[in-house]
Amino acid sequence: MTLDVVDSLRSVVGAAHVLTDPSVTESYAVDWTGRFAGSTPAVVRPASTTEVAAVVEWCADNGVAVVPQGGNTGLVGGSVPLRREVVLSLRRLDAVSAVDSVTGQVTVAAGATIAAVQRAARGAGWEYGVDWGARDTATIGGSIATNAGGSKVARYGDTRAQVLGVEAVLGDGSVVSHLGGLVKDNTGYHLPSLLCGSEGTLGIVTGARLRLVPRVDERVVALLGFARVDDALAACGLLRRSLPSLEAVELMFDDGLALVCSSFGLSQPLPAPAAAYLLVECADRLDPSDALASAVAALRSTGAAVATEPGRRAELWRYREGHTEAINLLGPPHKLDVTLPPAALAAFVDSVGARVLTVDRRAQVWLFGHAADGNLHVNVTGVDPSDERIDSAVLDLVAEHRGSISAEHGIGTAKKQWLHLNRSAAEIAAMQSIKRALDPHGILNPNVLLPS
Ligand SMILES: Cc1cc2nc3c(=O)[nH]c(=O)nc-3n(C[C@H](O)[C@H](O)[C@H](O)COP(=O)(O)OP(=O)(O)OC[C@H]3O[C@@H](n4cnc5c(N)ncnc54)[C@H](O)[C@@H]3O)c2cc1C
Repeated sequence: MTLDVVDSLRSVVGAAHVLTDPSVTESYAVDWTGRFAGSTPAVVRPASTTEVAAVVEWCADNGVAVVPQGGNTGLVGGSVPLRREVVLSLRRLDAVSAVDSVTGQVTVAAGATIAAVQRAARGAGWEYGVDWGARDTATIGGSIATNAGGSKVARYGDTRAQVLGVEAVLGDGSVVSHLGGLVKDNTGYHLPSLLCGSEGTLGIVTGARLRLVPRVDERVVALLGFARVDDALAACGLLRRSLPSLEAVELMFDDGLALVCSSFGLSQPLPAPAAAYLLVECADRLDPSDALASAVAALRSTGAAVATEPGRRAELWRYREGHTEAINLLGPPHKLDVTLPPAALAAFVDSVGARVLTVDRRAQVWLFGHAADGNLHVNVTGVDPSDERIDSAVLDLVAEHRGSISAEHGIGTAKKQWLHLNRSAAEIAAMQSIKRALDPHGILNPNVLLPS
């Protein structure tokens, strides 16, 4: 059976692009955190939409399950073959077309990285409005499949807000393509919206038409300290109200910041440590430094480090973006990416650590996130990576506060059994019907997101 699969796929994409050597396929079978690892008979690397369609059609005809994979930076175990599925890697589809300078749009293939799209946009005087730490590896296809968020959601929206059209291969191998880029186009169901956040279960995204935003080059970054968590959270609302140029407000805490400093040999950013920190970035056509300074003066901040020069701005961002990597160095973490209603955020921050400790006294709970969106990343280390009571403790608390169990990473396999906390039986049944319609043979990432 395995040999048949490999031979058949080789006839579709060429022998060189079906990888079977376990020492090579291994890196495609383990996720970024190291918590989710499986194995695969083959990693297939098509180079065009036609080849993707041929691979999917063959898999549909032969009942072979497929896990689509982009940069494999997903954090919920959705991009790796945990049940011996074939891995369909989109990385060879990496073309970025010329930016349309009139509409401010660009067509890109699914395997292009976020950084490649950002570079193309900047080169043409525009900007891609989505950004996060894994930009050099994460792909456009993966970001659509997860509806990725990142640090600029408050200003520009999530990935769904940037996607004007998609090209995708559905579960029977048919191709849907709508890349014209019309901004107003009410001609039936909006498949791009449906594919955003579908985690590879409805179609393989092969290309997208993306909306760009005007490029703004005058930037200032401030790292602010606060004696109390409440003060930091209140500051977030005030900054949003008073600064139209606000691009990012990121939240960190004393223990996480200290971990980043010790992991990467960085000095503390402020003269005195604080309980909570906000990393704030403003961007505009004219220097936004004065506007930011007067907004900061109205806050209860205990200290600030401010940077306008690009290198120094990047150094301040390192304190925030270093969190994911530093926590992973402690061992595979439980990663729970959640949103709380603004009124519940402080209470959740206060109680989540104690709730986790009731499950395992060894647990260390790390919090950070995108404060402007109420999005907290709850990471738990020091415990058994497979102990699902930890995930339950956090996600039940989120549900008690009427939050979302997935802010931006998706459900994957990691949170599949808790979907009912946020979705009614009727909603799940509707999603299953959609899945059956677009993937009639049930071969597209069949083990993620929805109950089996
Ligand atoms: C350091 C770090 C920081 C991060 N910060 C953020 C953040 O701030 N915000 C955020 O939202 N995420 C963040 N992430 C998570 C991750 O980068 C995103 O989920 C990203 O969108 C995944 O893209 P990818 O190309 O790596 O997809 P993969 O990890 O390869 O896949 C993710 C999911 O999409 C599916 N998929 C991939 N490509 C396709 C395709 N072409 N068609 C259909 N399905 C596909 C996979 O099957 C899987 O279910 C971070 C990750 C890391 C490692």
